[in-house]
Amino acid sequence: MSATRIPDAAPPSLVTRAESSEATVVEVAGRRVGNGWLGLVAGPCTVESREQTLAAARAVAAAGATWLRGGAFKLRTSPYSFQGLGAEALDILAEARAETGLPLVTELVDPRHAREVAAVADVIQIGARNMHNAPLLSEAAATGKPVLLKRGPAASVEELLMAAEYLLKAGNGQVLLCERGIRTFEHSTRYTLDIGAVPVLKRETHLPVIVDPSHAAGQRDLVLPLARAAVAAGADGVLVEVHPEPERALCDGPQLLPTDGFAAFADEIRAVAAVVGKRLG
Ligand code: PEP
Ligand code: MN
Repeated sequence: MSATRIPDAAPPSLVTRAESSEATVVEVAGRRVGNGWLGLVAGPCTVESREQTLAAARAVAAAGATWLRGGAFKLRTSPYSFQGLGAEALDILAEARAETGLPLVTELVDPRHAREVAAVADVIQIGARNMHNAPLLSEAAATGKPVLLKRGPAASVEELLMAAEYLLKAGNGQVLLCERGIRTFEHSTRYTLDIGAVPVLKRETHLPVIVDPSHAAGQRDLVLPLARAAVAAGADGVLVEVHPEPERALCDGPQLLPTDGFAAFADEIRAVAAVVGKRLG
């Protein structure tokens, strides 16, 4: 890629888009992301209760989301913040998944949870704070489930590709990359959405690239414009956080889209997708 490659490392090869390589499509239960199929991944930041999770899941399913997301185990910056309901949340997510029929994305934060998370998850999320955690990447790859790998807030595009290379090298080729904002001097948004990373990644790798405008923005009014920009820039999907009562949320309240506005949000995404020749997968 660039001349900045770490000298002792071989360049990533399995993730690299060769002239001949076809775009990877990640497919779960017939719901596809990549190669013209756009993913709309939506759901709560974190499972707070059965009612809150089912309300969010029903709303996103009704609006046409393609995958459901929700955190059971959370990695919070402060040890005093809500850490997630853990195993109890997995049961709630399993119910939401069964009721909506949507494939479920949930985060693995600890190798010791791999088995119980993989029993419920259709797609294993590796969070931004764990992108460099090679032992965790190995556990995620070994579940055999597709892995949604988020870019670390201080990781370069090349480091993201190298982290994905660990997953492919471990034999798991069903990998999605997620740009979710990086840390810069700019504080008017929670992170800076690196929109340029989208076409760069699309050029460098055959893996689908999705964008999380919720964590990048940190403010709900910015989520739609950033999501539209992501799809226009060539992203294969967007991942957004939704809540029935954002003002009462235990995690990431200011960035959560209210469920009652989500159908309109999905319509906007479909409209931009049509312009760039993509369909919800
Ligand atoms: C999340 O998607 O639930 C999350 C915690 O995001 P990130 O790892 O990007 O901070
Ligand atoms: Mn969140």
